Amino acid sequence: MEKKSNKKLYVISGSSGVGKGTVLKGFMAKHPDFMLSISCTTRKPREGEIDGVNYFFVNKEDFMKSVEEDKFLEWAEFAGNCYGTKKKFIQQCLNDGMNVILEIETNGALQVKKKMPEAVLIFIAPPSLEALEQRLRGRHTEDEETIQRRLHEVKKELECAKKYDYRVINDDLENAISELEKIIAGEQEKC
Ligand code: 5GP
Repeated sequence: MEKKSNKKLYVISGSSGVGKGTVLKGFMAKHPDFMLSISCTTRKPREGEIDGVNYFFVNKEDFMKSVEEDKFLEWAEFAGNCYGTKKKFIQQCLNDGMNVILEIETNGALQVKKKMPEAVLIFIAPPSLEALEQRLRGRHTEDEETIQRRLHEVKKELECAKKYDYRVINDDLENAISELEKIIAGEQEKC
């Protein structure tokens, strides 16, 4: 995708249960001038989620039509649902002079890097696999099989994370937010 402004695209991924959403929320609260991209998904809305705010909720047929028409900057299947970032949405934000943040999984992130090498990829990692396992168990929301499947996914994601530009260890929320701020401030200076 053609880059027409000096604004940057930041792609943030993280293992499930690592608190990436909380880190990102903390960052966004301090930096309202950054635009958090809204993805399309075939997943059903969760309670409280609003179409056009949290996601653009679409059916599989419409999603696949957009894939065929090459409308996505990236897309991937995750846990049985499709997720994708519309090229037009991102280009519009960058042209409007906004720095954009994508919060997406690793396959999509690597697709973005291929198409837009100037995009900055940041991975939010758990302090250790053991800590993550404890956190997942502490939620008491998943059974053993699900926990094992998730840990397997996390190992795969950590492999992908080696291709990211930066890694933020989320051992402490405030530290992780300030680490993310430092990385982004450093990148902004390069603009
Ligand atoms: P959730 O269903 O919990 O909202 O999201 C599931 C996963 O999909 C998360 O890892 C989230 O980062 C990822 N995701 C959300 N939007 C996109 C997107 O547009 N593209 C890709 N590749 N992943 C996404």
